[in-house]
Amino acid sequence: MNGFEGRVAFITGAARGQGRAHAVAFAERGADVVLLDRCEDRDVLSYPMATADDLEETARMVEAAGTRSLVVQADVGDRDAMDAAVEAGISAFGRIDIAVANAGVTLMGSVQHTTTAQWDEVLGSNLTGVFNTIGAVAPGMIERGYGRIVTVSSMLGRQGGTNTAAYSASKWGVIGLTKSAALDLARHGITVNAVAPGNISTPMIHNETLYGHMRPDLESPTADDVEPVFRSLHVQPVAWLDAFEVTRAVLFLAAEDSVHLSGVVIPVDAGNAARTSG
Ligand code: NAD
Repeated sequence: MNGFEGRVAFITGAARGQGRAHAVAFAERGADVVLLDRCEDRDVLSYPMATADDLEETARMVEAAGTRSLVVQADVGDRDAMDAAVEAGISAFGRIDIAVANAGVTLMGSVQHTTTAQWDEVLGSNLTGVFNTIGAVAPGMIERGYGRIVTVSSMLGRQGGTNTAAYSASKWGVIGLTKSAALDLARHGITVNAVAPGNISTPMIHNETLYGHMRPDLESPTADDVEPVFRSLHVQPVAWLDAFEVTRAVLFLAAEDSVHLSGVVIPVDAGNAARTSG
């Protein structure tokens, strides 16, 4: 089966951006989808998170594609909430076959200026959140002897960067977690793989705060002003990629036929992986 008819996908960070692109693509290919997002801002983050309306809009898009959705507002950093979300998904649709641990936050800040509260938020959402997602879906997948888990790292999970200490640490952690989970779950028919996106055109990079960091010389930088700076971060001459470019890799890893593909990281980063050893 190369489509996803009859499958159930569980997607975190589904209210907007890449999570929404993944959710709609699974729906268009026949899967029912559990859509999870926190939909709440955090004081320690300097850009807005998605809203409950955003999450409802993803649900409308999934339903327009012709399959069912279940909306859950929860924090991936909260293990009890994640266990409850998975239970709700299983009650609604019978099982979860695919999990995409996509929710995440970014933070611009040097290691010497990152506060403990910021560190906790970034590690909690980006790394503990992936651990909780895997932990919550694994028992049902083990019981049924089938699962496809895709985690979301970053090109900063394979290299360091200035002002990205917490983010980079969390995304390196995702890769170690993914490889170890792949080994632990292999005998149960479950694959665990990661995607490592470059700069993707979502609200995570298109926000006033990040624009301000990139062009401190300007009072109110626009997308045009930051475009060359973003372009310099990729090997290929492109500033940002469309979310669907990452979705293509997620669909490939989540396919039933990708049965013996586990523990790998697929970069979708405009050639940046050519600069790293991984
Ligand atoms: P985004 O900000 O548009 O979407 C992230 C979503 O996650 C938001 O809807 C947000 O509300 C949700 N979220 C954040 N923390 C959460 C939590 N603790 N619990 C539940 N939901 C939470 O950004 P995006 O680009 O779509 O990011 C998706 C993933 O891709 C993230 O893991 C991000 O780190 C990663 N990534 C993004 C880029 C990029 O350039 N945009 C590059 C590399 C990796």
